[in-house]
Amino acid sequence: MRDHARVVIVGGGMMGAGLLYHLAEEGWTDSLLIEKGELTSGSTWHAAGQCPSFTADFNLGMIHHYGNTLYPTLEEKTGQYVSWHGCGGIRFAMNEAELDWFKHVEGVSKMIGFRMQIIGPDEIKKINPFADTTGVLAGAWTLDDGHVDPAGCCNALAKGARDMGADIVRNNRVLDINQMPNGEWQVVTEQGTVTCEHVVNAAGCYARKVAQMVGTDVPITNMKHHYVVTDPLPAFQERNEEMVVMRDPYSSSYYRQEQKAGLIGIYETEDAAEAWAETGGHPEWDSENELFTEELDRIMPWMEKVMERMPIFGEAGLKRIVHGAIPHTPDANPLLGPAGGLKNYWMCNGSSIGIAQGAGCGKYLAQWMVHGEAEINMAGFDPRRFGDYADADHVRARSFEDYTHMYALHLPGEERPAGRGARKSSLYDILEEKGALYHPVFGWERPKYFSLDGAEEEIGFKHNNGFDAVAKECAAVMNAAGIADLSGFAKYDVTGKDAEAFLNRIVANKIPKRAGGIGLGHFLNPHGRIEGECTVTRLADDRFYLLSGAAAEIRDFDWLSQHVADGEDVTVANVTDDYGNLVLAGPKSREILSTVTEADLSNDSFKWLTGQEIEIAGVQVRALRVNYVGELGWELHAPMADLPKLYAAVWDAGQAHGLVNFGTYAVNSMRMEKAYKGYAAEMTNEITMIEADMERFCRFDKDDFIGKAATLQRKQDGVSQQLVYCEMEEGDCDARGGEAVMVGDTNIGITTSGGYGHRAGKSLFFAYVKPDYVEPGSTFEVLVLGVARKATVLADPVFDAENARLRG
Ligand SMILES: Cc1cc2nc3c(=O)[nH]c(=O)nc-3n(C[C@H](O)[C@H](O)[C@H](O)COP(=O)(O)OP(=O)(O)OC[C@H]3O[C@@H](n4cnc5c(N)ncnc54)[C@H](O)[C@@H]3O)c2cc1C
Repeated sequence: MRDHARVVIVGGGMMGAGLLYHLAEEGWTDSLLIEKGELTSGSTWHAAGQCPSFTADFNLGMIHHYGNTLYPTLEEKTGQYVSWHGCGGIRFAMNEAELDWFKHVEGVSKMIGFRMQIIGPDEIKKINPFADTTGVLAGAWTLDDGHVDPAGCCNALAKGARDMGADIVRNNRVLDINQMPNGEWQVVTEQGTVTCEHVVNAAGCYARKVAQMVGTDVPITNMKHHYVVTDPLPAFQERNEEMVVMRDPYSSSYYRQEQKAGLIGIYETEDAAEAWAETGGHPEWDSENELFTEELDRIMPWMEKVMERMPIFGEAGLKRIVHGAIPHTPDANPLLGPAGGLKNYWMCNGSSIGIAQGAGCGKYLAQWMVHGEAEINMAGFDPRRFGDYADADHVRARSFEDYTHMYALHLPGEERPAGRGARKSSLYDILEEKGALYHPVFGWERPKYFSLDGAEEEIGFKHNNGFDAVAKECAAVMNAAGIADLSGFAKYDVTGKDAEAFLNRIVANKIPKRAGGIGLGHFLNPHGRIEGECTVTRLADDRFYLLSGAAAEIRDFDWLSQHVADGEDVTVANVTDDYGNLVLAGPKSREILSTVTEADLSNDSFKWLTGQEIEIAGVQVRALRVNYVGELGWELHAPMADLPKLYAAVWDAGQAHGLVNFGTYAVNSMRMEKAYKGYAAEMTNEITMIEADMERFCRFDKDDFIGKAATLQRKQDGVSQQLVYCEMEEGDCDARGGEAVMVGDTNIGITTSGGYGHRAGKSLFFAYVKPDYVEPGSTFEVLVLGVARKATVLADPVFDAENARLRG
């Protein structure tokens, strides 16, 4: 075996092979894949090979669609048999909520370009005459998907990669991985040691074991999954056409034709699911081509339901039973990207439908590795979307939940029970008493709104009982004051003699010159694309306090700490857990706060966009005069243990002034009215500050900052899409992000986020659209749950465009 490569990929299943192929396509042919057994000998060889296109998320949909366009051509490209069957698929909707969801996905299909139609039971029967459609409201018929031979497909990707110059070594286990002082990796294998710039963990069910070689972990649980193949069926033998792949929430299963037989796969729900190698989560190294003993009893309740749906399956015996392992993550998405805290150690694992996703995951991860960014928004796949809170119990609970809900719809507002309460602010119990309904973000439990009548949220896509409760919270914030616990913000102390120069280098905006100054900063990569956003408060000459979104905690810490140059006097400390954060906002907030602090809160002494370290009710607080809701107010950052004391003092003082609690739903409503953009929605790795209409946060007069030249170049070259802020005609629901923007039948863009602005009484959203449609007053339509709603581009925020209230 060679002793050096640019990239070493550990694992030769669908994910590893998909990456090797696409790295080679990107020009990184100096890549070596190492497999402990034969290629495909992990989960890949025994998969059922379905490749669905039905996905509600645009970025995941892009991954699936890419596979479904590559696989039909792969045999011709590589000469290796793939056995693509483009038979399409039908998924059943059993209720109105699922039908709403189909309508959303239909919009996604228009943007991505896969064919999808929503059809009724009669049409379903025409396409699949064998199905009993009792209780079925509609079907999502996706015409461009199908199934492949998983081993053939994986081998084709491997062959294609080899043909382009990449290298594969089989029957060679990776024993250890070490980082050398020069940052390169040393991969120790049974056949010798190889050094490389980048190492990739594509070890499937063994990914945790391989991660632990470098002291990290992977949030997966290996779930045991069955499918069965029947004896040949006369009904199939008599037909020339192949039956579509069926996906059925009623029986929590998929079923299709396999040659002239039936193939049925079951996702057991509730307590029936089981994981492999649960003790420590590790399978044995020597398990190859591992299949488990069949446990038909476990899947029988769902098999019976399949027989109700497809009575012809009951006419044949079972020829083959496959019972193998699949890695599942807590949120169903694969893990693609850098491992937190490690440079050039990449994850390419955690895919539970890795046959469908292998090629697309490989394509976009290869782009990220080679170019520093991908064409799609990778935030939802970045392994750093999980932090330490995702411990073994949490991961297990959530992964089980993912497996058992494979065909269940996750409704907006639905808070599933597994793995909850991983991170709580010290106010959790106090606010729960006051009616807080919680939802988790990066493990943090955050109040979404306060249910004053004790009712739970009636979950769904449309305005619900929470709508009125949030309207009241917003009105109180506008007319009096509100207090919100947003302790989940990621928080960093950046200190040292060179801290200012360091921040000026990695942030596009100018860093505040004077102590107390606050500015908004964006991390750009060398191509000018947006990697992060933070609020920078200068506490002293050599002390800065940075805040970013909860979900960015690990990623932003990596970005900051990995950009400290050799010899630079800069320390980056993650102080997220140390501080809680209360937002006090509204016209009465100064009066309220004045009663509990000696500090001078007047405009002369405490201006908008400044911060001070002050004492409030005996608690040392970093008070920042900023907020995301557009009212006079302060963020109060205090030691987590002191938060209840601070809250109690402010709450008591506020009672005479109409102070209310508010949650993140109200925050979203009010930030939409102020046209405040959010990281991972409006600002992503796909675009630059020019497309995001954020040029005013770039100080091109600075000597340099990372991404400056590329941003200027983009400005000069012009853009093919641009962010717009829009109002939509009234309806019973709002845009949430990911909806198609249409002019007639032509897709001209995609929404990124939205919500109802209660203070202004408008349904608002952001979208990326083609440059012809960015002028204020431009109109187009947005497909929200299948309804084309007229929308107009706005020139200014709909609430207090002059920021008079913030300055008040
Ligand atoms: C019964 C069943 C049906 C399925 N049906 C479908 C389906 O219809 N559609 C679909 O998309 N997906 C399906 N799947 C899921 C799919 O099989 C997996 O998502 C996919 O195979 C994962 O690919 P992978 O490359 O991540 O893992 P693997 O295929 O397991 O590859 C990982 C490889 O890493 C190697 N390895 C591990 N450790 C080391 C080491 N230290 N040194 C060297 N090599 C190492 C292993 O030997 C293994 O070959 C099914 C799974 C099962 C069990």
